[in-house]
Amino acid sequence: MVVKYIRAASLDEADRVLASDKRARILAGGTQLLTSEFRDREFVAVDAGSLLPRGLERTAEGLTRIGAGAVFQDLADSPVPSRILSEAALGMANRNVRNAATVGGNLGAARSCSSLVPALLVLDARVRIHGAAETRPLADWLAAPSGIVTWIEIPASPGLRAAYARWSRTACDLSVLTCAASYRLQDGSLRDVRIACGGLDARSRRFPELERLFEGRPLPGRDEAAAAVAPALKPIDDLRGSAAFKRLRASELVAEALLTAREVSR
Ligand SMILES: Cc1cc2nc3c(=O)[nH]c(=O)nc-3n(C[C@H](O)[C@H](O)[C@H](O)COP(=O)(O)OP(=O)(O)OC[C@H]3O[C@@H](n4cnc5c(N)ncnc54)[C@H](O)[C@@H]3O)c2cc1C
Repeated sequence: MVVKYIRAASLDEADRVLASDKRARILAGGTQLLTSEFRDREFVAVDAGSLLPRGLERTAEGLTRIGAGAVFQDLADSPVPSRILSEAALGMANRNVRNAATVGGNLGAARSCSSLVPALLVLDARVRIHGAAETRPLADWLAAPSGIVTWIEIPASPGLRAAYARWSRTACDLSVLTCAASYRLQDGSLRDVRIACGGLDARSRRFPELERLFEGRPLPGRDEAAAAVAPALKPIDDLRGSAAFKRLRASELVAEALLTAREVSR
């Protein structure tokens, strides 16, 4: 529950509050922080929503930059991000929530079945933190989050193929499983394979054990890919689905993402 509300006048001020009070949390769209998930957890809300950049842009060098304050609907509406990011954003089925939930908040929330994290991981996204000179790989920041994310940056990657897939019980429900895959095709073989999934572990993450199954090999058929993936998965069992179900459903989802990516240059 919110024990104190501070409307920060600048990101510097927000940073100072974060450093001085362990209970302080950045409040962006509030679609996680202001829900029952935090009813029993005391926190100081440092409202920085209006201070975070919200733009989406592509530089002359092909770097895609997404402001941490951009909301899911911005990702869905803009021609700037790659197709898999727009699809991942639309995977959040409720438009009212898409209008409030920010990209930075999605990273901060670090949900098991995050919509955006798998897609950003397979695009090798990096995060820019307020006050830091260098960007950091998103995966590193997720492993030890600190500071205020201001921009998410995705390098130009000519020839990269990428696709996103999700599964939920009904179209409007939260995702049970999310998955993204990317690779290059070189002489008929997959190179630089990236596979990231949500819903299988406490946090969405890349699965190197799956990437190794396909690296340097021709793209298999769908059934063959799913059969290779299933034994390598050890999903968590939670209220969204049993481990046994998730293993089977996720193996199909990974196969779907791999095969769809063949047709989609990002
Ligand atoms: C009905 C409903 C449906 C939802 N559906 C989905 C879904 O389909 N997919 C999905 O992934 N999530 C879903 N969520 C969860 C939530 O909406 C998202 O995770 C959202 O992106 C959180 O963003 P926010 O701006 O609301 O974050 P907030 O709630 O404001 O903050 C979330 C966390 O991120 C931190 N944070 C916020 N901004 C930053 C920043 N710039 N830098 C560092 N830390 C920051 C906060 O301190 C907090 O810990 C849903 C939530 C609801 C209520």
